[in-house]
Amino acid sequence: MLLTSENYYSREANEEYLSVSQYKDFMGTYGKPGCEEYALAKLNGTWVEAMEDSTALMVGSYVDAHFEGTLDLFKAQHPCMFKKDGNLKAEYVKANEMINRCERDALFMQYMSGEKQVIMTADMFGAKWKIKIDSYHPGKCIVDLKTCQGIKKIFPHHDIGFLNFLGEWGYYIQGAVYQKVVEINTGKKLPFFIAAISKEKVADIELIAVEQSLLDEALTEVEHNTPAILMLKNGEIKPIRCEVCDYCKATKVLTKPIWSSELIGEV
Ligand SMILES: [Zn+2]
Repeated sequence: MLLTSENYYSREANEEYLSVSQYKDFMGTYGKPGCEEYALAKLNGTWVEAMEDSTALMVGSYVDAHFEGTLDLFKAQHPCMFKKDGNLKAEYVKANEMINRCERDALFMQYMSGEKQVIMTADMFGAKWKIKIDSYHPGKCIVDLKTCQGIKKIFPHHDIGFLNFLGEWGYYIQGAVYQKVVEINTGKKLPFFIAAISKEKVADIELIAVEQSLLDEALTEVEHNTPAILMLKNGEIKPIRCEVCDYCKATKVLTKPIWSSELIGEV
């Protein structure tokens, strides 16, 4: 199927194409473990997540919609953002402040001034992939806008040490896939940047260049994991349940008691 902004997130599009967000649902990131059964349930529509349930997602989408030029439509589609008196709720007033902060910075706006929400597809590692670029500067660079809790926030992990927010939320994977799909389409390997804006009391902004070595490393990981995801999507292998995500909690069926010593798993 030919992808458009109307059908990009449709079930049919998600069935035919693999996306970075699907990949992360299956494989997880350091910040959110993957769950194969949850990822498949989302794809086949038996598990539906409403964006309105997550203020973090809503604020991120609000800021995205502004830069995409579709904020009026977004407001009309999400009346939950407004108080009874018709004014925006505090978190979206805050989102407006974040947007204003970005717009006060000439370089930030220059990076965000590319072609908006550019859709591309490519065959890669045996799968058909789809991507949607926030700000695409043909022949120059790929820019993705990210809202985060704090740009310098560190995420501790007992096994691998400290991660920044890019590593925590799988943005190296996103950058790697976007760069490769653009390269397959245009023959040009472009640098990948994150235009970051924090949700702190005083919003912080940054333009972050992603090192090529880290993108290469992430792409190798994607290449390694893609065949298994395809087999799961095709129903050729049985999905594994993570038993920790909301989907697994909601669909859990008890078969026997567990020992109290099992309550603390491997930490
Ligand atoms: Zn799960």
